[in-house]
Amino acid sequence: MGAGPKCRFCRSDLEHTFVDLGMSPLCESYLKADELNRMEPFYPLHVYVCEDCLLVQLEEYVSPESIFTEYAYFSSYSDSWLQHAKEYVEMVTQRFGLNTQSRVVEVASNDGYLLQYFVAKGIPALGIEPAENIAKVAIEKGIPTLAKFFGERTASELAREGKYADLLVGNNVLAQVPGLNDFVKGMKTLLKPQGIITMEFPHLVRLIEENQFDTIYHEHFSYFSLISVERIFAEHGLTVFDVEELKTHGGSLRIFLRHTEDTSGPIDQRVQHLRAKEEAYGLKKLEIYFSFSEKVKETKQRLLNSLIEIKQKGKSIAGYGAPGKGNTLLNYCGIGTDFLDYTVDLNPYKQGKFLPGTHIPIFHPDRIQETRPDYLLILPWNFKEEIMNQMSYIAEWGGRFIVPIPVAKVCT
Ligand SMILES: [Zn+2]
Repeated sequence: MGAGPKCRFCRSDLEHTFVDLGMSPLCESYLKADELNRMEPFYPLHVYVCEDCLLVQLEEYVSPESIFTEYAYFSSYSDSWLQHAKEYVEMVTQRFGLNTQSRVVEVASNDGYLLQYFVAKGIPALGIEPAENIAKVAIEKGIPTLAKFFGERTASELAREGKYADLLVGNNVLAQVPGLNDFVKGMKTLLKPQGIITMEFPHLVRLIEENQFDTIYHEHFSYFSLISVERIFAEHGLTVFDVEELKTHGGSLRIFLRHTEDTSGPIDQRVQHLRAKEEAYGLKKLEIYFSFSEKVKETKQRLLNSLIEIKQKGKSIAGYGAPGKGNTLLNYCGIGTDFLDYTVDLNPYKQGKFLPGTHIPIFHPDRIQETRPDYLLILPWNFKEEIMNQMSYIAEWGGRFIVPIPVAKVCT
């Protein structure tokens, strides 16, 4: 084995590039005004695919401690995400007969956006959230939360206290785990013999198919297909028994798992169907992974062409949103204040700050009404319907929306 990067799951050498987005700052490192003239760290966004287990992954350039201990993302700021969480809680409570005797544990529970619905039903819940500022918000809302990273050690501590989970939930966390094997081992440890795990994560097929290269950032270490994720969990004695395709985050999978020793129920046909679909799409061969880089370059060219055309007509453009993915997009495409006058975000934590790398200022959404930009570039395109509804008043002055992904498109 060489001295280069190794697969975080199977330890094979990583020799094949999935996509190389160059150098980029950490996408959640929003800057204060007095930090603008300082040196800013940039790290490679070079994504590999493992030839042996087909896990698409980024090297760990930055430790999770430095990223996640004070994280700016508060889940509760999106209405549609809250709705998604609420519907999930209804579904899973009914399907698995959860009640006041059950215990639900959520890993990366954020501000309690999801667990609050279990607590409201009287179902005991425990959140595990490494970002202390966010865990504090959850605790203040009455949701028991441990400010810790999850892995085998935390799982064993909880197991020693008898705090096993009937339902173990992990939404949009698997991608953010550098020590993937330790994390999945911890899930195995904490799960009751008849317990259920559900995990949600963006689906690699959607990423490739819809050019979602902006969902690649340093905080996302891995990018999963059903094929790759099944193999990882199987290695740790957990079996996928059902899977759903969701529309969230541009297209996600929700997988349902139980102990491999637990043969009490059937494996839903949907698992076999999706596995076959991924195989037909080519995910078991390297070619499909190699084709992605060219698509990304084309997407960049299309977006820049649209923006240049608009600017040459003397029109103004503002951004909507300051999500992590927006920072990958803007930095990779080289879009700064030469194109976007500013962006806005509902999250007060981000207002008054500047985007990393591009230094585009972030304001409260009221700024749109005040300055009446001709175009609004929607950075969190996964919420585009919600945003276009909310901001429909820009039509009053002839304002139009630009959706950058999968290909730049102007909408009214
Ligand atoms: Zn591998």
